[in-house]
Amino acid sequence: MTARILVVDDIIANVRLLEAKLSAEYFDVLTAMNGLDALEAVQKSKPDIVLLDVMMPGIDGIEVCKRIKSDPATQHIPVVIVTALDQPEDRVRGLEAGADDFLTKPVNDISLFCRIKSLTRLKMLTDELRLRATGGDALEVMMRTPGALGENPGRVLLVASEDSGYERLVARLGEHHDISVVADGATAIATATETLSPYELIIVSFDQANFDGLRLCSQLRSLEATRQTPILIIVNPDEQQLLLRGLDMGVNDYLLRPVDNQELLARINTQVKRWRYAEQLRASVKASIEMAITDPLTGLYNRRYLDTHLSHMIEHYINRGKQLSVLAVDVDFFKAINDTYGHDAGDKVLQELGSRLRENTRSIDLSCRTGGEEFIVVLPSTDGDTAERIAERLRRSVAARSFSLDVKKTVPVTVSVGMATLLGAEDTLEHLLKRADEALYTAKREGRNRVVRALAA
Ligand code: GH3
Ligand code: MG
Ligand code: MG
Repeated sequence: MTARILVVDDIIANVRLLEAKLSAEYFDVLTAMNGLDALEAVQKSKPDIVLLDVMMPGIDGIEVCKRIKSDPATQHIPVVIVTALDQPEDRVRGLEAGADDFLTKPVNDISLFCRIKSLTRLKMLTDELRLRATGGDALEVMMRTPGALGENPGRVLLVASEDSGYERLVARLGEHHDISVVADGATAIATATETLSPYELIIVSFDQANFDGLRLCSQLRSLEATRQTPILIIVNPDEQQLLLRGLDMGVNDYLLRPVDNQELLARINTQVKRWRYAEQLRASVKASIEMAITDPLTGLYNRRYLDTHLSHMIEHYINRGKQLSVLAVDVDFFKAINDTYGHDAGDKVLQELGSRLRENTRSIDLSCRTGGEEFIVVLPSTDGDTAERIAERLRRSVAARSFSLDVKKTVPVTVSVGMATLLGAEDTLEHLLKRADEALYTAKREGRNRVVRALAA
């Protein structure tokens, strides 16, 4: 994972140090030594992350952060405020200016790379979503409010043993998020996997007294329900080894005790946002895949689906010598329906036919609208005799009940069906469909409203 990082500090030694560390990890590093240059670099080079010193002559880091976060073109770029250890109030000002996270000077490698990794992931998701954004949705509003989760508190599970003083943590978090607390690993797993609305972040406070935090993290990472859930761990400053093992295991971020309020909230925000963006992206990818393979009029699969997915599936059936049949379905005299009642009425007939196809097939059968009034139904694990019965049932269900065009008007509809079955290792999708099509034409020739089985099938 590489990213372009802008390092801003008025002291050359600080710039060079961060530049060296980041370049050694193959990050692409840009530098600026004052606020104005930083803003120019942000505009011009659109970095993925900005590491921003607070104290600079002229425009200070807080002001730079504010300007980055108030410009719609740059506000999605994560900003990490680099503060001096003795200036805790800078963190509050940083948060108010919209900063995404903090680092304390002297910058320690683990925290540097952990912050950068976590924010780079967030930035990648944000970029992807910005490309897909359709405008005006809740997500955009959320993304326009840098550093905040909007009106929507995060669903957070805190795992902390009873004597760990977690009440203070809960009191701080509870103002901003929905917190559930559990005291041990087994309850944590049960709670996280059995919930209906998934947790958006799991915080594991490592206190070895009652449970093994590392073991819990590794379990959370391996379970289907929590594999993607962000995990933030809280460790003691002298527990470096534990921390490194946790990060190796896929823990997303960490905090050292004593827990700093601002840091905690900033990291929760980052993780919850990342989770939400990722969810949004998964939903959007799913929707666009569905859109790409669905016929909008009937909601059945489209021709593209038949050509891609089904050809793989049919190959699989051929290779394993399994049975599979297809039906080619075509509306009889559909042109007459259009001519008599109009094109919209024709569309209604096609929609209703789509419903009847669904009603008369199993959930594993795949119905596609392949052309105007032409449909293909694929019947996996179905021999010729069974397929013929299904085809006949479908034909009867269409002919038995007239299709309604509106409350008063109905029109009788019939379909002709050609049926073909896989013939074995030499067969191909193309041949199979061709046989079904030929059978369909025979059905048309022989008078329509009938099922014809392909020769040799
Ligand atoms: P046959 O019994 O031989 O199948 O006759 P047919 O009239 O059904 O077949 P033909 O292929 O001659 O006509 C199909 C008609 O379907 C022609 C075309 O205008 C119409 N059509 C194609 N796509 C759509 C559509 O999406 N909506 C509507 N309403 N009509 C369509
Ligand atoms: Mg037709
Ligand atoms: Mg036709």
